[in-house]
Amino acid sequence: MTDVPPRCPFCANVIKVESTFWSRIGLKTALAYCMPCQRSFEARDAQTMGSSFHQWAELFRGKLAQALNLAPILPEPVLHRALGNPHKDDTRLIPSLDELVRTCLRHQRTPLIEMARGRESTLEVTHLHNEATGDVEVVAILGTSSSESGSREWEQLVARTGLSHFVLYTHPGTSGAETRVKRAVHQRPLPAPQHDPAVAARMQASRAPAAVPHTAKHR
Ligand SMILES: [Zn+2]
Repeated sequence: MTDVPPRCPFCANVIKVESTFWSRIGLKTALAYCMPCQRSFEARDAQTMGSSFHQWAELFRGKLAQALNLAPILPEPVLHRALGNPHKDDTRLIPSLDELVRTCLRHQRTPLIEMARGRESTLEVTHLHNEATGDVEVVAILGTSSSESGSREWEQLVARTGLSHFVLYTHPGTSGAETRVKRAVHQRPLPAPQHDPAVAARMQASRAPAAVPHTAKHR
């Protein structure tokens, strides 16, 4: 866990914590400052935020990788239909899982930050099935912010075009996800990856109020 960078407890920007002599010997609380949101907070809150953010991001990566493993490689016309015939500008070819995860996490930043702060937001991964055959076709990602921030939705769909090649469709706007996606997430939420029960346990723990920064007086 040592290489997990500390993050701003408000905006999740990666920050640098400068320790002073006094903070190292424990006589003064180490403080940190976030340039983008111009707030200062205790360094330990940034550590907590950093590791909580990292854990949620890793859980998402695990779920997405697992879901993609079970998704078929689709030929072009089938793929287009399965994604809901999206506008070409809203789709992107992505040549690796790493880049796919990074791109998705950037888009799902709001729900991710809220989860890391212990709010009731969600980031779900599930499959969309062919309505006629019932076969898995593409992977759906749905981020939802907490009710305090309006329960906004961020939808993305991923189709496989090769072993590690993907087409990512980012649903335009944040006005709301497609009904079929919301229904799929509701009916078939993907469980946390089986291979790491420790992650699931830590997720549970990070929901505890302790994850809310000590100095976090929002606004
Ligand atoms: Zn910040």
